[in-house]
Amino acid sequence: MVRLTAVGRSYGKGPHRVHALTDVTTAVAPGELVAVVGPSGSGKSTLLNLIGTLDRPSSGQVVVDGYRVDELDDRKLSALRAHRIGFVFQQFHLAAGTRAVDNVADGLLYTGMSRSRRRERAAAALHRVGLGHRLHHRSHELSGGERQRVAIARAVVGDPALLLADEPTGALDTRSGAMVLELLRELNASGTTVMVITHDTELAASLPRRLVMRDGRLVEDAGITATVTGPRPALELE
Ligand code: ADP
Ligand code: MG
Repeated sequence: MVRLTAVGRSYGKGPHRVHALTDVTTAVAPGELVAVVGPSGSGKSTLLNLIGTLDRPSSGQVVVDGYRVDELDDRKLSALRAHRIGFVFQQFHLAAGTRAVDNVADGLLYTGMSRSRRRERAAAALHRVGLGHRLHHRSHELSGGERQRVAIARAVVGDPALLLADEPTGALDTRSGAMVLELLRELNASGTTVMVITHDTELAASLPRRLVMRDGRLVEDAGITATVTGPRPALELE
């Protein structure tokens, strides 16, 4: 699903140059559930953004779903992102004042589906995350945990192969955080490859595999490691 080869990402020039990532090589197989852990500033978000094709590496190679990201033009990159990758962030990023069902339906705008079809799919996704009774609530009428579940529903409504979550429990209380993690487990069990950044060591320890980052380097890969065979592109990018 993901292969990184000697990936580096730096910012700025000369004496102010920051090496956010240095020489990261790893792979994630389809169906894995992987925690990314490490201190603040260790390069976790940079890593996830590169895998999510929101950013390009300064050096090395990123392969996602069989595609070398550096060989795709912007249009194909957008298509890969839209069809194959879902994102969840710490701060939900929901449109304020918009009903849950419409926030989720917006995740399908790229598909060309009719509005009613999108809303149908959105309602189904909200049921899937346990919010079938909150379809018409607006963001400010939902709790933090519920907002994050709406954000997850939006991320998975298009049925992505890869779900990337950057500290999805960071802004939540323990109980809501546990529900969000349970949801990620369920999505993984139904076939979605999941990578989740977390500060919560207990949470991370409960996941099958942990990538440990320090000072921009991958310093430990703990837990089971599935055998990765070269993934082949699953769809033609339009
Ligand atoms: P983490 O998510 O582990 O907290 P990040 O990946 O966000 O860490 O950042 C890694 C390092 O790269 C940090 O030192 C950060 O300050 C730096 N960094 C991240 N983004 C930028 C940027 N756009 N410009 C300059 N430095 C950045
Ligand atoms: Mg971060």
